[in-house]
Amino acid sequence: MAQNHICELCNRNVSIITEHHLIPLEKGGKHFKIAYLCTTCHTQIHALFTNRELASRYNSLNSLKNDIRIIKFLKFIKDIPGDSYISIKKSKHVRKSS
Ligand SMILES: [Zn+2]
Ligand SMILES: [Zn+2]
Repeated sequence: MAQNHICELCNRNVSIITEHHLIPLEKGGKHFKIAYLCTTCHTQIHALFTNRELASRYNSLNSLKNDIRIIKFLKFIKDIPGDSYISIKKSKHVRKSS
């Protein structure tokens, strides 16, 4: 498969890219910026943060990249090929809110 997309968070080459609304749609994010993320980063973001947290505190790529949990995650995946499957567990507070 051609790995012709680059994830804006981990900067790895991947064959599938997804659109992440930096402000979730249900919080009025339709007209806001979209980040292009690999499925692993996208899953990780929604596993770590609730939509409320995303809308209020993590509504830019920079604020995501400066979060210690994201920094640790990026360190962990940077050497893993972009198309590898990585299983991600939802954090407790995200499970509770959904
Ligand atoms: Zn990524
Ligand atoms: Zn998303």
